[in-house]
Amino acid sequence: MSYIPFENRYGQMSYRRCGRSGLQLPAISLGLWHNFGDVDDFSSGREIILKAFDCGITHFDLANNYGPPYGSAESNFGKVLQQDLSAYRDQLIISTKAGYDMWPGPYGNWGSRKYLLASLDQSLERMGLPYVDIFYSHRHDPDTPLEETMGALSQAVHSGKALYAGISNYPEDKAKKAFAILRDMGTPCLIHQPKYSMLERRVEKGLLDLLEKEGVGCIAFSPLAQGILTGKYLDGIPEGSRAARPSGALRRQNITPGELDKVRRWKKVADKRGQTLSQMAISWLLKDPRVTSVLIGARTLEQLEENLRSIAAPAFTQEELLLLEA
Ligand code: NDP
Repeated sequence: MSYIPFENRYGQMSYRRCGRSGLQLPAISLGLWHNFGDVDDFSSGREIILKAFDCGITHFDLANNYGPPYGSAESNFGKVLQQDLSAYRDQLIISTKAGYDMWPGPYGNWGSRKYLLASLDQSLERMGLPYVDIFYSHRHDPDTPLEETMGALSQAVHSGKALYAGISNYPEDKAKKAFAILRDMGTPCLIHQPKYSMLERRVEKGLLDLLEKEGVGCIAFSPLAQGILTGKYLDGIPEGSRAARPSGALRRQNITPGELDKVRRWKKVADKRGQTLSQMAISWLLKDPRVTSVLIGARTLEQLEENLRSIAAPAFTQEELLLLEA
């Protein structure tokens, strides 16, 4: 059946300016790392993408290696674009990245100009697009000069294959240098994509301050710590959950009793606020104006809908914040 988007979709979402750029992103964006590969059900993935768009999610985040197999999330997203969303391309922000292992040999990963630009061409081909909105260097490469990696991002923008440049997983000192290089090249960095959640707070040690100072946006990935912050692992590993699947992204042994203790205590605060734990974990990130967008994953429509309800959350009281820090 042909898809007609919900007319009032933009009334359901709030949009936040990405650093000091002209671009606004939805408070919640959808990532396609898991659940949209060839190992997953295409129609379920399509439904989630279209529901997200209906709810005002304009930003979809991909990378060359999302699947599995690698590349298949981009191909499947490309199919949905072609079938359902081609008329809405100008209402979408689509990102992709290169940095992790993609093809064999010395030109299939990390941060050389050779790899980044070839990978971007492959991503565009898989998605059937002439350009992406954001092209990221997925991780810092210690063996390639930053000028070369940033030069490749900058060329992607100058050649029209990407509208903006971004970096992901860069530590603070490397991010600072990358911003200066990109600015000098006339293609200022739009956004940094770090891991950030109630359980992973390294960005608070300086990166967030740097982003604010430099006018660069922040999109927080794995905001639910891959599901741990939903409370789903409090009584074991549920069947079908990420930790039960063989991808290795979330290993059972990495869900520690210490984390589960915190989750148990935080759940009580969420209950009192009238939110689910996952909603509170998203609201907690969005209370910081330096966070432009929270980049969630969703395996089912229900998960997406539950998480989206965090937009309407009440502000945190001082007492709640203290309880969560304790
Ligand atoms: P989350 O922390 O949001 O985890 C998402 C997973 O948690 C879902 O797939 C689902 O897993 C579970 N979940 C979500 N909501 C609920 C709910 N309400 N109830 C129960 N379970 C729920 O994010 P991801 O780790 O998936 O990362 C999000 C995006 O961030 C990625 O798609 C990608 O775009 C980006 N990313 C970027 C990285 C980078 O290096 N730049 C690295 C990692 C992610 P299940 O049901 O299967 O258990």
